Amino acid sequence: MSELSQLILDRIRDVNDYPKPGVVFKDITPLLADAKAFAAVIDELAGLYPGVDKIVGIEARGFILAAPAAYRAQAGFVPVRKKGKLPSATLETSYELEYGTADIEVHRDAFSPGDRVLIVDDVLATGGTAEAAVELVKRAGAEVVGLAVLMELAFLKGRERLTGVDLHSLVIV
Ligand code: AMP
Repeated sequence: MSELSQLILDRIRDVNDYPKPGVVFKDITPLLADAKAFAAVIDELAGLYPGVDKIVGIEARGFILAAPAAYRAQAGFVPVRKKGKLPSATLETSYELEYGTADIEVHRDAFSPGDRVLIVDDVLATGGTAEAAVELVKRAGAEVVGLAVLMELAFLKGRERLTGVDLHSLVIV
């Protein structure tokens, strides 16, 4: 395992039975609170795809990573948000959750045609959220050059839903 992966792994805390019994929540707040580790993660994300035009963050923890990475990469930042939070005209998609569905949106005019885009989130679990975000970015006229997450939960097989996407996980557990 790389030094960075170990640094991340050591600073992501398992919280059992949150937000409901049986779930092990991967809490990234210890990582965010560590100045050196946070900077190393942001630098890594910013350097993954040189020349990207926009970095997309998925609400909410994706914002915390994508915005500083965009600044570092001299790219724009674009939020993908839960339905009803973006003020202007949006594109919307829904995806399956364990119980029910969720809707996410992006502004219709968030991208210039052909923008090269990196999508960032904290954790890849079943892959439903990431798959929906990829679809939205493509529908908005941009090219998804990659998807980066801090931690991939391999046992949930989210990667299998993301065929054709260059998935970059800083830690796989
Ligand atoms: P999924 O769509 O199942 O891949 O879930 C990914 C989204 O839910 C990401 O935005 C994560 O922030 C969040 N998420 C799912 N499972 C976990 C977990 N075990 N720990 C922390 N966040 C999670």
